[in-house]
Amino acid sequence: MAETADWLHVDVMDNHFVPNLTIGLPVVRSLRTATPMPLDCHLMIDDPARWAVEYAELGVYNVSFHAEAADDPVAIAKDIRAAGCRAGLAIDKNTPIAAYLDMLPNFDVLLIMTIKAGFGGQSFIPEMLAKVRTARRHAASGHLELRIEVDGGIAADTIEAAARAGADAFVAGTAVFGAADPAAAVTGLRRLAQRGAAEGAVGPDRR
Ligand code: ZN
Repeated sequence: MAETADWLHVDVMDNHFVPNLTIGLPVVRSLRTATPMPLDCHLMIDDPARWAVEYAELGVYNVSFHAEAADDPVAIAKDIRAAGCRAGLAIDKNTPIAAYLDMLPNFDVLLIMTIKAGFGGQSFIPEMLAKVRTARRHAASGHLELRIEVDGGIAADTIEAAARAGADAFVAGTAVFGAADPAAAVTGLRRLAQRGAAEGAVGPDRR
């Protein structure tokens, strides 16, 4: 296990919202008791209005659902928070961010996909960092407590640029679990992210 990481990111896929099927509620429930690590649940599923609160009630750290699958993201965020959980809004590759900026005060996490949601092993898409910059500027000017999480192709050669753009949570799959020493891989990635963040100078005046 990569016990040097802060969160364990759990991808829930339903074979509808994305053409892939992973784990669901029972496995997340088991994981919750099997590891002391905070679980960061990423729901790549249809109908999050029906399901998100069920994940929140498992006592996970955060539940992120996709904007593209939600008619009323703010209502779902309120339900998640009412269950005592942090709420995350996930934005897929082809979704512009502008329409969601005003909703961000209702969220603790903004998850920006840096690949197309649904499959691991894709290459990081640098153009997605424009969304990270926009969101970070918006959060800074509104004094929002918002984690901006990037998911997809995050590795030693991409994490620094993501941090520089304003991301402060990083999902790494292959770069950690494909490493001979996952715990050391996390430590190395963290160092690169810290360097990127220092160069990025977070604040309302950032360019
Ligand atoms: Zn994910």
